[in-house]
Amino acid sequence: MGILDVRDVNKRFGGLQALGNVNLSVAENTVHAIIGPNGAGKSTLLNCLVGKLIPDTGSVMFDGQSVLGRKPYEINQMGISRVFQTPEIFGDLTVFENMMIPLFAKRDGSFRMHAFEGVSHERGLIAEAEKMLDEVNMLDKRDFHAGSLSRGDKRRLEMAMCLIQRPKLLLLDEPTAGMARADTNNTIELLKTIKKSRDITMCIIEHDMHVVFSLADRITVLAQGTPLVEDTPEKIKGHPKVKEAYLGE
Ligand code: ADP
Ligand code: MG
Repeated sequence: MGILDVRDVNKRFGGLQALGNVNLSVAENTVHAIIGPNGAGKSTLLNCLVGKLIPDTGSVMFDGQSVLGRKPYEINQMGISRVFQTPEIFGDLTVFENMMIPLFAKRDGSFRMHAFEGVSHERGLIAEAEKMLDEVNMLDKRDFHAGSLSRGDKRRLEMAMCLIQRPKLLLLDEPTAGMARADTNNTIELLKTIKKSRDITMCIIEHDMHVVFSLADRITVLAQGTPLVEDTPEKIKGHPKVKEAYLGE
């Protein structure tokens, strides 16, 4: 049993079988990468884990409990946090204000704008937000408008907003998509530091094989909605089926 266990999950969109009999077990405190060509069903699978989509059949167990039938915010409270393919941050708020949103949401169960009024009394939360910003090297941009940040910094901020919730499982959908090489390398280093510094399991969808091979303990190759192989990075690199189906060799 892993911290996350997906059993026989199927998902159709009309006539299209987006996921067919997906089985996946993610071991606690590991980084598990899911790779595969465009349209393979990777994002659909993540959406089934966070309650954005409900599988037609099958089960999804997290930390011994079923996530199926739960709302996204309930699944989030169970300890699953997700970094989206397009950063979901509030452009009109400052970096620091963005950081307070998950903290208030966690404390109060929901987020209310007027919660900011009491912000000066919330020394503990402020310190927590600043510590997290420091960890992702963004403390110097604390008072910048989030909308004015570079693509890499927006992603870093979103990651910090996820991590401050102390998730047990962090899901990342193409965290380096559209990033320049330097930002990609920074993201790899950041994820490595996070992996070392806390108890966390990560499930990462990624196109960039440099990122995958730098971070993953296990790799699942998804093709046409079905896992083709699952193995260590070393084995995956040399796998003939993978070369043929995914690496295009
Ligand atoms: P990936 O993330 O691996 O690129 P997706 O999970 O986004 O793939 O998509 C898998 C397949 O399901 C694709 O053929 C895509 O067009 C289709 N699909 C995804 N979401 C929907 C949806 N909401 N409605 C209809 N078809 C969808
Ligand atoms: Mg996708």
